[in-house]
Amino acid sequence: MALIVQKYGGTSVGSTDRIRNVARRVARYHREGHQLVIVVSAMSGETNRLLALAKELSADPNPRELDVVAATGEQVTIGLLAIALEAIGIKARSYTGGQVKVRTDSAFTKARIQSIDDAAMRADLGSGTVVIVAGFQGVDEDGNITTLGRGGSDTSGVALAAALKADECQIYTDVDGVYTTDPRIVPEARRLDTVTFEEMLEMASLGSKVLQIRSVEFAGKYNVRLRVLSSFEDPEATSQGTLITYEEDKHMEKATISGIAFNRDEAKISVMGVEDRPGIAYSILGPIAAANIDVDMIVQNIGASGHTDFSFTVNRSEYQKALDVLSRERTKAFKAREIIGDSRICKVSVVGIGMRSHTGIASKMFKALADEGINIQMISTSEIKISVVIDEKYLELAVRVLHQVFELDKAPSAGA
Ligand code: ASP
Ligand code: MG
Repeated sequence: MALIVQKYGGTSVGSTDRIRNVARRVARYHREGHQLVIVVSAMSGETNRLLALAKELSADPNPRELDVVAATGEQVTIGLLAIALEAIGIKARSYTGGQVKVRTDSAFTKARIQSIDDAAMRADLGSGTVVIVAGFQGVDEDGNITTLGRGGSDTSGVALAAALKADECQIYTDVDGVYTTDPRIVPEARRLDTVTFEEMLEMASLGSKVLQIRSVEFAGKYNVRLRVLSSFEDPEATSQGTLITYEEDKHMEKATISGIAFNRDEAKISVMGVEDRPGIAYSILGPIAAANIDVDMIVQNIGASGHTDFSFTVNRSEYQKALDVLSRERTKAFKAREIIGDSRICKVSVVGIGMRSHTGIASKMFKALADEGINIQMISTSEIKISVVIDEKYLELAVRVLHQVFELDKAPSAGA
């Protein structure tokens, strides 16, 4: 008997039929004798719908009230799932984040979990009741409803698994695991049996939208065994999905590269002809950070005749805001010849822990792109990742050729 946390995303609970299907899978695990805590998202599209309603009434809604509105989506699905389970004879009880309590800070719309009270859940589990918890939400010290940021139910699931010291946290979604890349772009993409937390973090942050990045960080930190599975399979089927693990244990696939990730949500800003002096990076990026805009890649050229060019990328949704900040700071904090922006870019990355022990990955990647006539605009590397910024129109081509040259369509030979 194990204590299992299962998290179901929006598409998995997108209709009453699908909720019934979730109930059937939960029933199977229950029958097998496991203790179950089920975390659900809102029905697919519902959170968007709710937030759009708020935006109809105000261009800049109060974040506290936005959370009051957004959190209702999950309240509907916990109740419906409890009803579906009871309809097939299984004791179940739903909890909102506030009822559990999932205590968070007061950063509305992007709150962080501080603690979880497991007493009520433990009591239910002890009596054979399935516990159903609303994902994405919590409550602050003063009892205000908070939400954890878009996609936050994954984090709820992992946090609950950590708090309950669950044996496994299963994330059910519309794909049956983590793939070498998006199969909609490369039909030959393969499901990975295992992937390390580090690789998963790179893939998630790079846009393989299987799991919310914060949930993976959380799982890595609290040693939660995390598994990604499909909720569309027959509830009686016992597939393994992808296990996200720490170890490069001996059963693991020994590929140099594990996947090709990409991100279309970025935009590039270049500040041309700034002075090449100490403090210039800070004078440009300081105000960007102060405006709470996340910066991803940064490139500064070697200076020539006392001047240099400085480029960086931000999320596309913050692109205009970043340009506004820079044009405000331009004469105050730094002088620049020109500020140019380009929102029609994308980032493509090869990811793999095998990179640590293999050389030549970068040149192989650059040659493959060159052979297709794809111009690289920016490059950044880490120990297990090489990313390039390219024109967005080449995204699919780049992903396809990289998948091919790194032979990701072929299963790596054991122990190779
Ligand atoms: N319903 C929330 C969202 O759409 C949380 C989640 O699905 O994880 O962002
Ligand atoms: Mg989701």
